[in-house]
Amino acid sequence: MKAAVIRECGGIDKLVVEDIETPKPEPGEALVRIGAAGVNHLDHDIREGISGFPLAMPHVPGIEGAGEIVELGEGVNAAKVGDRVGVALLAPCGQCTMCRGGQDNLCFNGNFLGATMWGTYAEYVCCKESQLVPLPDGLSFEKAAASHLCFGTAWHMTVHYGDVKAGQTVLVNAAGSGVGTSAIQIAKLHGARVIASAGSDEKLEKAKALGADVVINYTKDNLAEAVMEATDGLGAEIIIESVGGDVLVKSIEAAAKGGILVTCGAHAGEQIELDVIQLFRKNLRFQGSVLSTRLEMERVFQLVAEGKLDPTIHAAMPLDDVQAAAALTRDRNFFGKMLLIP
Ligand SMILES: [Zn+2]
Repeated sequence: MKAAVIRECGGIDKLVVEDIETPKPEPGEALVRIGAAGVNHLDHDIREGISGFPLAMPHVPGIEGAGEIVELGEGVNAAKVGDRVGVALLAPCGQCTMCRGGQDNLCFNGNFLGATMWGTYAEYVCCKESQLVPLPDGLSFEKAAASHLCFGTAWHMTVHYGDVKAGQTVLVNAAGSGVGTSAIQIAKLHGARVIASAGSDEKLEKAKALGADVVINYTKDNLAEAVMEATDGLGAEIIIESVGGDVLVKSIEAAAKGGILVTCGAHAGEQIELDVIQLFRKNLRFQGSVLSTRLEMERVFQLVAEGKLDPTIHAAMPLDDVQAAAALTRDRNFFGKMLLIP
């Protein structure tokens, strides 16, 4: 099969499209012909060897994708050849206390697509049965691959933790990111008012088109002051944060009393100076969030199929252009989702 392969950790030039042997599904696994693969920032950390995942070389990156099952290993019961599926990043074990408690996104023994196993930058991927998420009729592989991580992660943050309700104000930082564009739509779907923030006016214009009611450029304006101004001094009840650094600090200042800040990333600064007094004085909750549950992914796919959520696809590029796609995501020079079509 054709795949983008890395044979050693390093820069984008280490991603080379090669012909390698198509993997064979072991018991409990499925072979999926990839229709579309999502390009994510975590792919860079994995390729550079700074993700914390132990990599076995050669390695095929790609933590997100959708396609069609073409072969099954022994003992796979819940899927059949020809099924259209999304392939989840995490293969939960199904046995640990987290899995048994319905929090499979926090599985203790999980395998990770494109990290501890080969990923989706390839014509085929071999995955565990627990990673297969059925696609509703009418949902394209492109839209599924573009929805999986972004909408799944944003749903877990906004709905599961944020418990978003009509009339509430939701501040969405990094409004041009995959999670940001998704959180705007999810909050609007629930009837909330959305304040979107980003570092460029161009991204904010696009956030407005997605439904954002107020937009703030945090490189020009003081984010906390601008949010307070837009909310008559009350602040935002739910904050969807993935920037870190000063944006995170300002977001805590921008939070309403009893509000919740949910974070899923901190590329602009993982260490911050936190004024703890604000947390108890305002009764704030500070919540970390990772991925989504399998059930949430199924619901997200259904809403995308119904057209109630619509992933923003920046570009769908052929697998041969993997280095160009990687450069765009590395430089954050895109709005929405980058896809590779094997
Ligand atoms: Zn588990």
